[in-house]
Amino acid sequence: MEKLAQAVAGAGGLPRRVVAEAARAEAERVRAHLMAGGEPEGFSVVAGRVRADLEAVGQAALRPVINGTGVVLHTNLGRAPLGAAVAARVAAVAAGYSNLEIDLESGERGRRAPLVDRLLAVLTGAEAVCVVNNCAAAVVLVLRHLCAGERKEVIISRGELVEIGGGFRVPDIIETSGARLREVGTTNKTTVADYERALGPQTAAILRVHRSNFYQEGFTASPEPEALAALARQAGVPLVEDLGSGAVVDTASLATLEHEPTVIESLQGGADLVCVSGDKLFGGPQAGIIAGTAAWVGRVRQDPFFRVLRCDKLMLAALQETALAYLSATADAPPAVPVIGLLSADAEVLRARATALATTLGAPAAVGQGTSRCGGGTMPRSAVASVTLDLTPPRGSVDDLSRRLRLGRPPVIGYIAGGTLKLDLRTVFPEQDEALTTAVRAALDA
Ligand SMILES: *Cc1c(COP(=O)(O)O)cnc(C)c1O
Repeated sequence: MEKLAQAVAGAGGLPRRVVAEAARAEAERVRAHLMAGGEPEGFSVVAGRVRADLEAVGQAALRPVINGTGVVLHTNLGRAPLGAAVAARVAAVAAGYSNLEIDLESGERGRRAPLVDRLLAVLTGAEAVCVVNNCAAAVVLVLRHLCAGERKEVIISRGELVEIGGGFRVPDIIETSGARLREVGTTNKTTVADYERALGPQTAAILRVHRSNFYQEGFTASPEPEALAALARQAGVPLVEDLGSGAVVDTASLATLEHEPTVIESLQGGADLVCVSGDKLFGGPQAGIIAGTAAWVGRVRQDPFFRVLRCDKLMLAALQETALAYLSATADAPPAVPVIGLLSADAEVLRARATALATTLGAPAAVGQGTSRCGGGTMPRSAVASVTLDLTPPRGSVDDLSRRLRLGRPPVIGYIAGGTLKLDLRTVFPEQDEALTTAVRAALDA
């Protein structure tokens, strides 16, 4: 075992104790294998296996990568990048103590980061806002709260019983909340009358879910938000909307994107509570933003389960700075929110960068065309024309080149199309161009 640990020391850049534990576990496996009458293996085979395993684990260390996929909100790559200003505030709050829960005027215990709720309320046009860990948590908290009493049924259209990805299935989320699902309408058509027929003394809420990552076309219908809101008000039950991405700016004004429903629209349409993600189009940290009327948000915030899902100081610092970035934007200075900047980046600017990179890198590199997407389960129809750096390996396969880039320093993630490896410059920050050049050179030369 010691010999094994020595043979693989330093693998994956991992600490001695992690290596020793891997050696111990492998020695145990080998012993069990032999006891079961298995063929003995050579020491180098066993050591090679342990080293490969440790190297794979070491690669998994969380660190920055260069996103050349063109998918702006890539869930596997951490969704929204926060940018330097937000990151600086997070770092400052993280490194030491902060006024997280103290009223500096009185010195007494205060509410957790009350400014965050205030800023988000102004930004979303809501009377009040509270925040939790993610949008899934926000929906569960709201439904749990509304179904805590005798009324347990949540009415939802069959056309909205969707799966968003990453394990978010609306029917499961409703059940997890202790609510009873009451489906109405059909997959493609649901009317106000369908909702009306389902209402009764058992109804806790009407839920609308934004379909996010898919869309329906053709023979379809769903009620106008105002009509559904009027029905809910008449029945004395809240109308809850899971908006998912929930833009705070008009996405149709950025590039060639479709219009994504905004929180303001949803509230103006009569929703009492609206849940959105912090790290989708909003462009902030992972978080779930619950916006709504002062009365409903106040009740949700008082629910004991709110404590279970509360945000930590790093998320709150990032949310605060992201909200400030939106609120300090002017007509001449767009919000300093990277997601907004990336989506609206001008193709000619990207082309100039691609040309410079291709010139520096020489023959295996060329300027190409690509299509950026919003990603993160939002706006599946939106495609934004983009510019790529196309790499054709002088030797070896394009798959190998792609792997070498992923395993490089920093890792670079691209995509393969038409036999070349493409790096979409929309999702590569200009300040990364130098690091990209170095990483691409290393991968081409290897
Ligand atoms: C993305 C999405 C969610 C999940 O949001 P998280 O912040 O990832 O938990 C929930 N509902 C809808 C409609 C979504 O689009």
